[in-house]
Amino acid sequence: MNLTARIIIALIAGAVVGLLLNMFTPGAYSVLDPYVFDPLGQIFLNLISMLVVPIVFFSIVLGAAGLGDPKKLGRIGFKTIVYFLVTTSIAITIGLAIASVVQPGEAGTFDAENAEFSAEEAPPVSETLLNIIPKNPVEAMSQGDMLQIIAFALFIGLALAALGEKTKGIFNLFEQGNDIMMYLVHLVMKFAPYGTFGLIASAIGEQGWNAIQSMGSYMLCVLAALLIHCILTYGGTVLLLARKSPIWFFKNFAPAMTVAFSTSSSNATLPLSMEVAQTKLNIPKSVSSFVQPLGATINMDGTAIMQGVATIFIAQVYSIDLTMGELVTVVLTAVLASVGTAGVPGVGLIMLAMVLGSVGLPVEGIGLIIGIDRILDMTRTAVNISGDAACALYVAETEKKRTIKKQRDGA
Ligand code: ASP
Repeated sequence: MNLTARIIIALIAGAVVGLLLNMFTPGAYSVLDPYVFDPLGQIFLNLISMLVVPIVFFSIVLGAAGLGDPKKLGRIGFKTIVYFLVTTSIAITIGLAIASVVQPGEAGTFDAENAEFSAEEAPPVSETLLNIIPKNPVEAMSQGDMLQIIAFALFIGLALAALGEKTKGIFNLFEQGNDIMMYLVHLVMKFAPYGTFGLIASAIGEQGWNAIQSMGSYMLCVLAALLIHCILTYGGTVLLLARKSPIWFFKNFAPAMTVAFSTSSSNATLPLSMEVAQTKLNIPKSVSSFVQPLGATINMDGTAIMQGVATIFIAQVYSIDLTMGELVTVVLTAVLASVGTAGVPGVGLIMLAMVLGSVGLPVEGIGLIIGIDRILDMTRTAVNISGDAACALYVAETEKKRTIKKQRDGA
């Protein structure tokens, strides 16, 4: 049986076991979770997280060095960033629209009086942007600061391209380092079904059916918006911009999505999503290793969708009407929040504080949705990484066309 099928079976088995334990034997869950589910999940998470920093570093260095021409790097960078900003704006608009129509905040009685949430100060976006250049690259790596690692790797890659033959030895070393990491990804993925089972059983066992039911309308809005975004925006990108079949895209990218779903972390899923993009979607290494790490760090469409729905939901629960101007502010802030959101579990909810604050909505409102956020985090992370892959495919295909056209014109 192939890996995707095994991971999906593990997902379903984990959900069923978690739900049954939660409903019938919560006592058994409290014993099984710390000794079985949680360790299985943690081992898997640690194994893949272990590979993230070296993979991002090696692959971006090689990507930048492989593109060679700084002009080409600039063109790909520009395309990628414009794509990220446009699709994230579309994502949050879909979230706002669906929540405005369905009105999840009017659906039940929510205890706004007792909602509690105190936000940790989210870093201002200007700081995120300024901090892209690392003062100390070694510290950036030890802290896992993705944007800084990407920036440093880009510099090294550019230098390798400029120095050519002279630094061939180091180039080969990085290439071999990258091969070793990719080999390890393969190895670690053999453990994926067990890790997935543990992660899902642990999450669902804790949340249970009641929590899911009571927030049904809000959850359905987020899920519907995620689905619509996947079909329209990514399907559209694949079909119209990359001229490929969306079904082919989602079918081949599914293993990465299932792992994103179980880990709730774009960063942790990165080694696998790159491998899948390169081997199954045939995206050249040079494009995939630039677009995907960047996307896992700054492109969070699924998170933006949740923030759009949550903003409307909280406004409705507190009976606050948002003006058109405020909605535009929400879109802009959520796009910036998406850039600042790290690809690790739960950060999207913390960044929501910034979005709510931008239009004066009560931040405590987050307390209303925090209970079920774990499950939505899983789904939106799968969407987050699909956006990066769709962008990589679009960039790869348009670059390929450009090269062919150039060759034809030259011939
Ligand atoms: N968990 C998400 C990710 O890693 C970020 C978030 O929305 O919390 O992509």
